Amino acid sequence: MKQTAEVVIVGAGIMGCAIAYSLAERGVKDIVVLERDEIGRGATADAAGGIRQQFSTETNVRLATWSVRVWEHFAETFGQDISLRQQGYLFLLNRESDREVFERNLSMQQRLGVPSRWVTPDDIRELNPHILLDDIYGGTFCPEDGWVDTYAATIGYAKAARARGVAIVEGEPVTGLDQSGGRITGVTTASGSISAPLVILCTGPQTRQTGALAGVEIPVDPYRRMSFVTEPFDVLPTSLPMTIDFTSGLYFHPESGGFLFGMGNRDEPSTFEKTVDEEWMGTTVEALVERCPAFEAASILNGWAGFYEVTPDDNPVLGFTGDVEGLAVAAGFSGHGFMQGPAIGACMAELIVDGEAKTVDISEFRPTRFAEGDLAQEHNVI
Ligand SMILES: Cc1cc2nc3c(=O)[nH]c(=O)nc-3n(C[C@H](O)[C@H](O)[C@H](O)COP(=O)(O)OP(=O)(O)OC[C@H]3O[C@@H](n4cnc5c(N)ncnc54)[C@H](O)[C@@H]3O)c2cc1C
Repeated sequence: MKQTAEVVIVGAGIMGCAIAYSLAERGVKDIVVLERDEIGRGATADAAGGIRQQFSTETNVRLATWSVRVWEHFAETFGQDISLRQQGYLFLLNRESDREVFERNLSMQQRLGVPSRWVTPDDIRELNPHILLDDIYGGTFCPEDGWVDTYAATIGYAKAARARGVAIVEGEPVTGLDQSGGRITGVTTASGSISAPLVILCTGPQTRQTGALAGVEIPVDPYRRMSFVTEPFDVLPTSLPMTIDFTSGLYFHPESGGFLFGMGNRDEPSTFEKTVDEEWMGTTVEALVERCPAFEAASILNGWAGFYEVTPDDNPVLGFTGDVEGLAVAAGFSGHGFMQGPAIGACMAELIVDGEAKTVDISEFRPTRFAEGDLAQEHNVI
């Protein structure tokens, strides 16, 4: 392992790999990414792969929109197929209190060029004729939204970063963040130390723990979320959109001849328990069949648990921590980070090289906002 670097990135999920690639593109040399496990095997591997532009905060819409353009051309740019499906995200609404918020979000999204639109129950029937709509008064739909293969995308970034000279070391947990006189001086791992003037924490759900290695509090906590995939199942067409019952958080989309579905247990406290909760699986299946009775004929092929990396305002922590010079963070995407990877890579590289992110102004998500009491709440959390 190298003993010095210009930048050390901790974590090789979508964020670590996209930031490493973007920094290398900007001409930064001597970048080392340290991953305790394997590339793309953290939260990124557990994601449902959804990419959407339907957010409530302008910064998230801009990050998502910029990223969708990258996902659309990823295969040509990176030489990696990511199984892009742009079949839309269909939000179903039955809670009166969401109506005004979604209407307001739509006009903001449309102002930013997103082709999202309001849908009536009749429109919904055309988009997905298989769901029960008795309690649904409407919803929103964006045809450019969809899903991709998260592992392939991360590998695409990792390969492109390596081709530009980035060293990505797997099986190398960072156990210490070294500092002197309030400045980062490097990192310690089981194999030794690397001295570096800049360290970026891209450690997903583990970021409270990695921040603590430098005595810095980064409010990111893990919340268990489970996804399930059915056996190949031809009762429902593979052309259906990602369909989300916004009140319950139930979602499903076609996947590998079957369907991927999930629903977060919002009452479960923060945990690092990475097992499937059979009882919650039953609750999820009941909600699925209730909303879309055709699933009664489906059987589950497999299921897994992963962690949302949640912050107090459901938005990421991006930039220099302010507590220790040379320590930056890009984490806490609260369950919607994968899709923003491309834009986060570009923005973090700009912040580091130019001192300011220009692709999208990410200052709303600065690490110091929690201490300042200036939170940036995202409403559209699934
Ligand atoms: C069930 C589920 C569904 C989801 N669905 C979606 C979705 O549809 N769309 C979407 O955009 N997002 C979704 N997400 C969220 C998404 O997975 C995350 O926001 C995103 O992947 C975060 O990427 P990351 O690189 O920050 O974190 P990670 O992928 O977790 O990467 C962090 C890496 O840091 C490593 N690490 C941690 N500590 C150390 C250490 N001390 N030393 C070295 N390495 C370390 C970890 O091993 C890991 O590989 C979902 C998440 C879950 C759990």
